[in-house]
Amino acid sequence: MAQVIAIINQKGGVGKSTTAVDLSAALGAMGKRVLVVDFDPQGNATSGFGIDKDDLQLDIYDALMDAKPVSDAIVASCAQNVDVAPATIELAGAEIELVSVMARESVLRYVLEPVLESYDYIFVDCPPSLGLLTVNALVAADSLLIPIQCEFYALEGLSKLLESMRMVKSRLNPTLDIFGVLMTMHDVRTTLSRQVIDEVRAYFGDKVFRTVIPRNVKLSEAPSHGLPAILYDADSTGAKNHLALAKEIISKE
Ligand code: ADP
Ligand code: MG
Repeated sequence: MAQVIAIINQKGGVGKSTTAVDLSAALGAMGKRVLVVDFDPQGNATSGFGIDKDDLQLDIYDALMDAKPVSDAIVASCAQNVDVAPATIELAGAEIELVSVMARESVLRYVLEPVLESYDYIFVDCPPSLGLLTVNALVAADSLLIPIQCEFYALEGLSKLLESMRMVKSRLNPTLDIFGVLMTMHDVRTTLSRQVIDEVRAYFGDKVFRTVIPRNVKLSEAPSHGLPAILYDADSTGAKNHLALAKEIISKE
């Protein structure tokens, strides 16, 4: 049975999609069966795997709003053992159209149910907001992976995310938990980066992954080639740290 993990932070640019692509590819390389659900209309996880959005017959929107089986929308990615439920800009409409749908917060949960047996991990790459799409991810998820950028103001806005989590937990998904907090874009040269990590550790304790993702140019180049970091440059520190993170996650199973 898959663990469904929402990669979530309503701030943009903190490394959600990078984590969705590169961590999934690393887990896949270690033999885990992984599905990445691209749940951001920007479709960065989709293009990060080199999937051409113009070639798609169906995407996650069709599963969500048109009751198409999600298995019909899922495509294999360039990474071993990793499938993707792709997103296009069409998904932006769902944020509004879901409002009038019955049980509107639980649609993704029902959509994913038929494929839970097929994967070890299902990652939902969330959009940078706390709207209905994100609420659907909170209801569908067993737990949350929260990427936090090693920058000043890193913790700002997190209380809002945790408030949304508490709300969903009390009403719709009582067992929702934090899977882990991932420090991203760490700059080893700055003490600020170090201080932010200490601050986040003081707040989240052992929920923070031991593995920290460094700021690494290969991680930012890889998506423009449509490749996960471990396929773009396996020797880069970015790729190695995602492999280390995958190992850390598997060791917790
Ligand atoms: P989000 O999905 O939270 O908006 P992204 O994963 O798209 O964030 O990352 C934002 C930008 O930063 C992207 O251009 C990405 O390539 C780049 N980036 C992400 N993580 C790193 C990193 N560790 N080192 C360097 N660049 C990164
Ligand atoms: Mg993103």
